[in-house]
Amino acid sequence: MADYIEIPQANLRNIPIFSDEPNEDLLQEIKQHVRETREPHSWRGHSHTKPEQGALVVYCDEFDVPAPDTVPRVAPCPCCNPHYPQYKNKGKIAWFPDESVIRLIGPQCFKAINEGAHQAALVELRRKQKVRSELATIRRHGPSIDALLKMVDEVSPIAAALDVFLQDLNRALDNELALPLWRVARGGILSVSEERNVPYRKPDGVIEVRREVVPVHFASIAGYGMFDRSGPIAAQKKLGPLRSGLADISRRLIEVGVPERLTDAERTDFAEKLPRARVLLAEALSNAREKQEFLTSDAIETLGRWGRHPTAPYRFSMERKRGAVVLSSASQRSSSPVTVAIGSDAAKALPELPPINEE
Ligand SMILES: [Zn+2]
Repeated sequence: MADYIEIPQANLRNIPIFSDEPNEDLLQEIKQHVRETREPHSWRGHSHTKPEQGALVVYCDEFDVPAPDTVPRVAPCPCCNPHYPQYKNKGKIAWFPDESVIRLIGPQCFKAINEGAHQAALVELRRKQKVRSELATIRRHGPSIDALLKMVDEVSPIAAALDVFLQDLNRALDNELALPLWRVARGGILSVSEERNVPYRKPDGVIEVRREVVPVHFASIAGYGMFDRSGPIAAQKKLGPLRSGLADISRRLIEVGVPERLTDAERTDFAEKLPRARVLLAEALSNAREKQEFLTSDAIETLGRWGRHPTAPYRFSMERKRGAVVLSSASQRSSSPVTVAIGSDAAKALPELPPINEE
């Protein structure tokens, strides 16, 4: 028949050399063989024999046999279909401790031989896969923890200075200056109004021109996060706990030496916290970067020009003077200009997020 599969002679009998559960190296060898040959049945340790009814099984891992999408099944299964294609994805590396053999079988095949054992082995496999993936996450992130801690130490004073400036600036805008930048410069877009001749059609069809006041784009500024009500970077509130969480993980990983020695609870916890810490840091960093642009771009100068423009929505003055921003507005409550200090750390260069260890 067309797709009859010849099994190597050596695999047609039991190869009872696996008295121990296969370790990581052996699992890698098997998966590599399947990837390269697309023939689970020709792996040197595979027993292409049918398991005894009621046999006990340990599922060690799963594998996919490479094949085009249009091909639903490629590999033969010793349990149920030894010479014809039976399965493709989620094949099982099945260890049979009583016989000391390994069989590479279809994903569900053993169910018909011993359903209870199949279900129990499946539950155990899922548990092992979770452990493996947690360990892989910890190994991937572990080496960059020190760099992250160093980064938090670099970012914290900058973010804190930006937060102080943001709070002082907004207090001044709201209380002293009555200047609602958050509303009139939304998204950093500054507009002025201009009178224009606008053509229109009268009811009798004649085109005439009338004067209309229309908004015109004046400029766009960077760093509008400094006044757009998106809130502070929360340097102390967010980065502080993040730093101590990372430091705890680092200390514990050094203590145990290898992540395999962590308790189950610690391993699950660290595998969750490490990627999340990275995401939170990346967020804090981009938030700080965005707000910092208010100080490092020409935003202040541009706002100052806008405030002087005769048809801007508010008349105000804003300029940078020796480590501070000095503001006054036509509608301000006090008579003297308001000075908002820029902390010396606020405009320092922000670090880049260190790369993680790719496996
Ligand atoms: Zn089968």
